[in-house]
Formats: sequence, structure tokens, C-alpha cells
Amino acid sequence: MKKKVIITFPPNTVDKPLVYSLMKDYGLWINIHRAIIEPQKHGKIVIELRGDKKQIEDGIKFVKDQGIGVNALEQDVILDRDKCVDCGVCTSICPSNALKLDKDTYKLSIDYDECVVCGSCAEICPVNAISINF
Ligand code: SF4
Ligand code: SF4
Repeated sequence: MKKKVIITFPPNTVDKPLVYSLMKDYGLWINIHRAIIEPQKHGKIVIELRGDKKQIEDGIKFVKDQGIGVNALEQDVILDRDKCVDCGVCTSICPSNALKLDKDTYKLSIDYDECVVCGSCAEICPVNAISINF
């Protein structure tokens, strides 16, 4: 199985070899989609974890036990349904096809498994319906 998460490093944890440990000690396959690291300050990375359910659960527990934040993408890429007018503008610039208008209802949906947290949708949305905490 696979799971995509946003990892937030507090200042005292930025230099920890987290990805290396997840691969070596938990046997996880890691794909880094986006990373911002400022030494001594903070860091955020969007990573996809691949492995069996127990490997992923154990790996996430290990990260949390280090005092490092782990958020599901749904927590940091937020679509405000009350603001969204389903215009579809964001679907045209999403690089991973995570945004789609339903063919029958014309309602916007986000596939968080595909989102790479690039922020383009939040920048282009004319009514600020998408906010991204990255
Ligand atoms: S651009 Fe904004 S209003 Fe238009 S579909 Fe996307 S999120 Fe909704
Ligand atoms: S953050 Fe980027 S990848 Fe994710 S839904 Fe928005 S445009 Fe698509």
C-alpha cells in the first residue's frame, strides 16, 4: 500500500536522517515530492511511503516518537466547499491531475493520493477556495 503525508520538522529535529531511517529500519520505499529545509529553523517535506500496512504504521509512529509532525494531506491542503464555485480553473493547472470536475455533477474533487502539494491551485483560484499549509 502507499500513503502520502506531510512531515514537519521542528528546529531541533531538522538534521535528523529521517528518510534514511525509514528506508533502512522500516523497509519503506520513499518518494519525496516536495521539500523545504532551513537548517536550524524548520523543515517540511511531502513524502509518499510505500510498504505493507504494518511497515507504514510503524514508520509513522517512529517519526512521531521523534517529536516530528505527520499530517495527512487532507489536513494541509484544504478545499473550502462553501467558497468553491466549481469553475474548474484549477483543474487546468494541476500538474498531477489530482483536481477533477465530476462529469455528471460538475463538482470539484481532490484526489489526495495524486496531489504533490505544489500550491498552484491555491494561487490560481479566483475565490481563494483552496488553502495550503506548506
Ligand atoms: S479554481 Fe477555485 S473555485 Fe474554481 S474549481 Fe478550483 S477551487 Fe473551485
Ligand atoms: S496542490 Fe498542486 S498537485 Fe495538489 S491539487 Fe493543487 S495543483 Fe494539484
